[in-house]
Amino acid sequence: MTATESLACDLLVIGSGAGGLATAVTAARLGLEVMVVEKDFHVGGTSAWSGGWMWIPNNSLARAEGSADDGDACRTYLRHELGQAYDEALIEAFLTHGPRMIDFFQRETSLRFINGASIPDFHGRSPGAALGNRAVGAAPFDGRQLGKDIHLLKPPLDLISPFGMGIATGEFWHFVNFLRKPHSFVHVARRVLRHRFDLLRHGRGMHLVNGNALVARLLKSAFDFGVEVLTSSPAQTLLIEDGSVRGALIGIAGRNVEVWASRGVVLATGGFPHDASRIAGLFPHAPTGKEHWSAAPRTNTGDGLRLGESAGGRVRTDLSAAGGWAPVSLVPLPDRTFSHFPHLGMDRAKPGAIMVRPSGERFCNEADSYHDVTRALFDTTLPDESAQAWFVCDHRFVRRWGVGRVRPAPFPLRPWLRNGYLKKGRTVRELALACGIDAASLERTIRRFGEHARRGCDPDFRRGETPFNRAYGDPEHEPNPCLAPLDAGPFYAVRIVPGSLSTFAGLATDSNARVLDRQGRPIPGLYAVGNDMASIAGGNYPSGGFTLGPAMTFGFVAAHHACEVPFDGSGRQPNRSFPDLGAAVDGGTVTT
Ligand SMILES: Cc1cc2nc3c(=O)[nH]c(=O)nc-3n(C[C@H](O)[C@H](O)[C@H](O)COP(=O)(O)OP(=O)(O)OC[C@H]3O[C@@H](n4cnc5c(N)ncnc54)[C@H](O)[C@@H]3O)c2cc1C
Repeated sequence: MTATESLACDLLVIGSGAGGLATAVTAARLGLEVMVVEKDFHVGGTSAWSGGWMWIPNNSLARAEGSADDGDACRTYLRHELGQAYDEALIEAFLTHGPRMIDFFQRETSLRFINGASIPDFHGRSPGAALGNRAVGAAPFDGRQLGKDIHLLKPPLDLISPFGMGIATGEFWHFVNFLRKPHSFVHVARRVLRHRFDLLRHGRGMHLVNGNALVARLLKSAFDFGVEVLTSSPAQTLLIEDGSVRGALIGIAGRNVEVWASRGVVLATGGFPHDASRIAGLFPHAPTGKEHWSAAPRTNTGDGLRLGESAGGRVRTDLSAAGGWAPVSLVPLPDRTFSHFPHLGMDRAKPGAIMVRPSGERFCNEADSYHDVTRALFDTTLPDESAQAWFVCDHRFVRRWGVGRVRPAPFPLRPWLRNGYLKKGRTVRELALACGIDAASLERTIRRFGEHARRGCDPDFRRGETPFNRAYGDPEHEPNPCLAPLDAGPFYAVRIVPGSLSTFAGLATDSNARVLDRQGRPIPGLYAVGNDMASIAGGNYPSGGFTLGPAMTFGFVAAHHACEVPFDGSGRQPNRSFPDLGAAVDGGTVTT
């Protein structure tokens, strides 16, 4: 390929996940000519597979319900959670602009949000933790509004979306109760019929929820504001003149095209979940880069970090964790490869299951966050061992809740037993032998766990004691929604390995999302958002939504900075003719 062509725009965004699209939509709405280039055939990246929840304390949806944070509770929480990693400038920018971002998108674009009224922070015992009302999600979206462009949108993650049908957080209970409760049956029947109709008519589901709805709404807004979105168009190198980033070389339809961007370039390529060499350098449990199983799309290969470094940027390696860890199970595929099922919490927190290491001992509170459970696995793995565990449950559990990719009754177990994903034993001992777990120890563990679980307590790990634990338990199970003995054989197990939902180590930036060089100075013309920007929590994971919340917020901030306009939108660029932005969200100016 030779570089013979060139294109020009105001702002070039590399990557089309929530971080990239939030930047693009904001900048276009403020008047810039924006181009988004995406390496994949589809738009959306990990964001389109995600739950779509964004942690944005003091947002207007919570305020409307009279449930916003009082005073500084969220700051108290973050100070406690982040400790030494609390970066005043970054956190203040996030807490100040997050609620503005929500109002801006809700007022100016096709985005609509729902309030996460009952989604608790991960660590309910920490000062300032909230029981809910700090997260917002994307409201469901009718994909037909995208017209033929719907086929640009990445389908939801198949592993967690039966027959390609995304299931919203609030619908989960209907799906696990559809054979038990008439109103759940009606809900599920309607959803399935509508989905089958959509599959026949459109080739994919059109009732979009979660991250798929978030990306669809961003994409619709991008098109409404004239953003050019090019798929199958990977960014290859940055165009740098006199130390300033002026554009990038993009592979477009087999040609090398120089794209010049007068207002700068935004790196939004989703971190490095499939960059084996960076993983080997930054994940202690993966010395060759292969001992880690990310749930993110395979196109996220660390390109943004490499591009940033080529311009003099620095990848932060001082974080408490380089990734947002998650326990993963490996689902065999017909071509002998595996897909990576993230155990987000729907199974781990339910009563009647435990997780054990090959020694047969529990190692964590299974109902804690995916990050905490995986960290506990690392902490208890000896230096000469590989990090792995087993998710162990009884027959009643697997039929009621399913385990990982194994769905509950009436879906059959046999295919999963046949392909080796699910192990089975008529007794605990038989199961232990099938898995290579210490049998005597597993029997002891299950006996001890059961004795306490009957009374609703877990003296070893205090499972079911925090609001976050209980939110994912079984509300109909007493005395503790997360605890029941494993006593209804046969017994089953699925092997768990360390994985992640996102990466945290990213480019050092300032509070305007500008990439910083080794001396801490902003590199002119270069921004990083989403997982290309180093975690503002310093590698800590205080709550669900703590990657998409900052991704959307700093996309909004970067766009304002590139436009050089205040946050009320006044003074936007004159070259586009959209209706006036509404009333000022709230003062605030861009600092340069
Ligand atoms: C199952 C699941 C559920 C999750 N749920 C949540 C949740 O509810 N809340 C939350 O906060 N987080 C959640 N996460 C994590 C969250 O989805 C990610 O952290 C977030 O989506 C990352 O957004 P991003 O914009 O940085 O990258 P992405 O959304 O991954 O987008 C990056 C895009 O860049 C493209 N790209 C890569 N290289 C190039 C290149 N050279 N040129 C052009 N394009 C390129 C990629 O193909 C990709 O499409 C979840 C993750 C998973 C897997």
